[in-house]
Amino acid sequence: MGPKKFFLLVGVGMLAACHEQRPIAAVPAPGVVLTQQSVDAVIYQRASAEVHRLYQQGYELARLRLDRNLDRPHALPPAVIVDIDETVLDNSPYQVTAVKNAHTYDPAEWTAWCRMARAKALPGAVEFLTYAASQGCAVFYITNRSAEEKAATVQNLRSEGFPSVDDAHVLVMEGTSDKTARRAAVSKEHYVALLCGDQLTDFDQSLKDRTVGDGKPRVDAMADTLANYFVLLPNPMYGVWLDGITGRNEAEKAGNKARWITGNAY
Ligand SMILES: [Mg+2]
Repeated sequence: MGPKKFFLLVGVGMLAACHEQRPIAAVPAPGVVLTQQSVDAVIYQRASAEVHRLYQQGYELARLRLDRNLDRPHALPPAVIVDIDETVLDNSPYQVTAVKNAHTYDPAEWTAWCRMARAKALPGAVEFLTYAASQGCAVFYITNRSAEEKAATVQNLRSEGFPSVDDAHVLVMEGTSDKTARRAAVSKEHYVALLCGDQLTDFDQSLKDRTVGDGKPRVDAMADTLANYFVLLPNPMYGVWLDGITGRNEAEKAGNKARWITGNAY
């Protein structure tokens, strides 16, 4: 053994000894892991000019679709239905704060954020809905915010300049997150000319099912109806798409995500 090799081996041995004496880093809690994994998503939603443009683009398309659908024969007075969160109001400051504080979704923190009534209108949303109202459409906001969040939500929508904001037109969650019954109540008395949302379930509850092909075959089967009557807006921060991969059990989400990555690598 030459001197160089000897000193190299001694050096490696010393490094290994030092390493052994260091405490083992604490394993982050599952919630911390999940919030750290959300960083790029919240930056994309909050800061990217791409998302800014995607909302503008979505509401430009909404206007084209609305004009065309108002030209179709209809007996009932027309209406437009929109979701609220990540459709007309931007909650990315709440999501960024959750990441900063290493929290996943927390109902009490979410309600506190809603009560601040500080969410800003998303690009193009006020302009589109003001246009829809000017064309004689009733505007309905169907949201899974809760009854206790309703007053602040109405205040927030009004302060951002949205039209038709009152108790009768803001339909909050009562018992179920499934919006089917609330949509049916609107369509009983209106011709629903267009719907907008950041989740496919803002259009049809059957699109919640992600068990076959991640739900994509269902989207393809409904392609014509979706193209004519629904405008989908971007949200990489949370939603049915993520629940379909991670499940809703907090303790299982990080593990399910890791398994999905392992199972879907090429
Ligand atoms: Mg939403």
